[in-house]
Amino acid sequence: MNSKTKVDCCADGHEGPALILTDALARILAEVQPVAGSETLAVRSALGRVLAADVVSRINVPSHTNSAMDGYALAGAGLAPDGETRFEVIGTSAAGRPFHGEPGPGECVRIMTGAPMPAQTDTVVMQENVTRDGDAAIVGAGQTPGQHVRQAGEDIAAGNVALRAGTYLMPAHIGVLASIGVSEVAVLRRPRVAFFSTGDELRNVGEPLGEGQIYDSNRYTIYGMLTRLGVDVVDMGVIRDDRDEVERAFARAAAEADAIVTSGGVSVGDADYVAETLERSGTIGFWKVAMKPGRPLAFGRIGDGLFFGLPGNPNSVMATFYQLVQPALQALAGRPDPAPPVTMPAISASALRKKPGRREFQRGVLSRGPDGRLVVHKTGHQGSGVLSSMAAANCFIVLPEDAGPVSEGDEVEVQPFAAFV
Ligand code: AMP
Ligand code: MG
Repeated sequence: MNSKTKVDCCADGHEGPALILTDALARILAEVQPVAGSETLAVRSALGRVLAADVVSRINVPSHTNSAMDGYALAGAGLAPDGETRFEVIGTSAAGRPFHGEPGPGECVRIMTGAPMPAQTDTVVMQENVTRDGDAAIVGAGQTPGQHVRQAGEDIAAGNVALRAGTYLMPAHIGVLASIGVSEVAVLRRPRVAFFSTGDELRNVGEPLGEGQIYDSNRYTIYGMLTRLGVDVVDMGVIRDDRDEVERAFARAAAEADAIVTSGGVSVGDADYVAETLERSGTIGFWKVAMKPGRPLAFGRIGDGLFFGLPGNPNSVMATFYQLVQPALQALAGRPDPAPPVTMPAISASALRKKPGRREFQRGVLSRGPDGRLVVHKTGHQGSGVLSSMAAANCFIVLPEDAGPVSEGDEVEVQPFAAFV
């Protein structure tokens, strides 16, 4: 590895310097193969899934050459080169009720949007450009032969691939499948992701808190992020800070899931058995990423499963999940080009503390200022344990590795949360 891809910034006990975030993501994605195995689902149930095979259309879309406007269908060759032209209206073609006659020279057909073009016609004149005189239609000057007609197959031609294998099915895609008359499609199976929290201090909601205890919130944010991502989840609960318990949990998770996400226990404190267990029973890819919040962070493999050992702090969990775990799980699901969402520039309405060294993901609220420019305010205390700053936010303020403090009025990059799901 090139030394420029690492920065010395984080003395947290694990050997070696921290990876810069983009290199960490590249190393993770290099390890990910899409899940094998597919299932056939009704088109609506395939929303949010990934196509397992190309879908070839058996029909033309549109299935017949039709009008793009309400107006009059006629043969363009019969239009006067300049000036008005008079046509006899011999019938009507409506959507679903075609006109079966054949207009001759000097004849036209009243036509509605989506209605099939009658034989011998190739041009539609919008009704706004026509004056009626009894059964005659007087077409104004300036019409172009061939205008306002949608050709059969111009959207999708019969025999062509309508959607490629690997397409992530959004609402428009299931609409396309319906438009070619497909009722079922083969999609990749969903990745299965097991997750658990580690820590003797953690209690489940509904239990009383003893001295020094806290509620396990990470298993809720992780559940939420995984569920929004559309993977199958296996919630393994809270695992105590005990070497054997952690080791057993690893084995169980690896047997059941394609990927494992844990929180806590990855530093080198006395009770941090995740790190040590991964070193013993897995393959470690890296320990540290130069991001804040988010250290330390472990990535590796247990058996065939991808392993993400996220930090314990609630904001670190969310930031590392969105920046590194989510793209990896998207790749595992077979989605094309998984990557963190694009950033966009905004004016910082807050002064922000920042030291060069790590890429920071501060929490902000993005809005449009009175001058129309995007403005971002930071949300309260930015400590890595303060989840309310995340709950109040609608974007990350992304401060690059080499950046120092930000003054009010400086331009910063933001990553809207809406782009994550
Ligand atoms: P650790 O990395 O295990 O030392 O945890 C770092 C910090 O995050 C500690 O303050 C923990 O109490 C807290 N923490 C760890 N796991 C959770 C969790 N599941 N929910 C809420 N806070 C947690
Ligand atoms: Mg812990």
